[in-house]
Amino acid sequence: MPRKLGQHFLRNAGILRRIAEAAAPEPVDTVVEIGPGKGALTGYLLERARRVVAVEVDRELVEGLRHRFSGVENLEILQADVLKTDLARYMPAVIAGNLPYYITSPILERVLQLTPRFPRAVLLVQKEVADRLTARPGRRTYGYLTVAAAVFAEVRVLCRVSPGSFSPPPKVESAVVILEPHPGPLVAEPARFLEFVSTCFRGKRKTLKNNLRSLYPRISELPEASLRAEQLSLQQFEKLYGALVRTV
Ligand code: SAM
Repeated sequence: MPRKLGQHFLRNAGILRRIAEAAAPEPVDTVVEIGPGKGALTGYLLERARRVVAVEVDRELVEGLRHRFSGVENLEILQADVLKTDLARYMPAVIAGNLPYYITSPILERVLQLTPRFPRAVLLVQKEVADRLTARPGRRTYGYLTVAAAVFAEVRVLCRVSPGSFSPPPKVESAVVILEPHPGPLVAEPARFLEFVSTCFRGKRKTLKNNLRSLYPRISELPEASLRAEQLSLQQFEKLYGALVRTV
């Protein structure tokens, strides 16, 4: 099987079961599965959900899925690019999947935009992405993605997954993350706020003063001026946003 489209199939039954159990700790109505591949996770999800909607872009894999699950009435297989699929129409639904790593960021962006309309998302991602999603301020992995996720959801790592659990094995370590949406975004004006946060992180090694002074000259008067973005918690970003942006 060519390693196109991030196709690394999970073979570890213990991990597959854990993902399905985390996705549906009790029976759930609908699960949207991103990238079902050959259906390894799909089988476990079908045991725990009234309906599974599986979105797979690869035509050959879709044919294989249709064959493997023929006669299974609670599975809907969509041959589609998940980035071009309107997932909102399936909400509320649990989101699950062993993600194709080459499009992790746009998938995460879409998933976060669906909050709070799903109860949880359980996603297998590169360990480096899991680290970024769950980093504390001051850590090397803390960045825009950490803050963007924290605005919309609580994120935790369920378990790490080694390359040997996949066929073929990927070059990187992986981890399963669970995203549980907050009832609403933790900040007002989330899109504008995150644009501001992105500006703060523009030059990661630069101080906030250097990153912000052309747009917000008042930064020079604030105590945060000499800090770097990676040192600020979500609450501190919010305070800074209030001081610099909401007032202009
Ligand atoms: N869930 C399977 C497993 O665990 O064995 C396969 C996971 S594999 C890492 C990622 C899957 O996502 C592949 O089946 C790949 O074809 C599919 N995929 C890649 N790009 C996609 C896209 N844009 N939309 C939907 N599926 C995609």
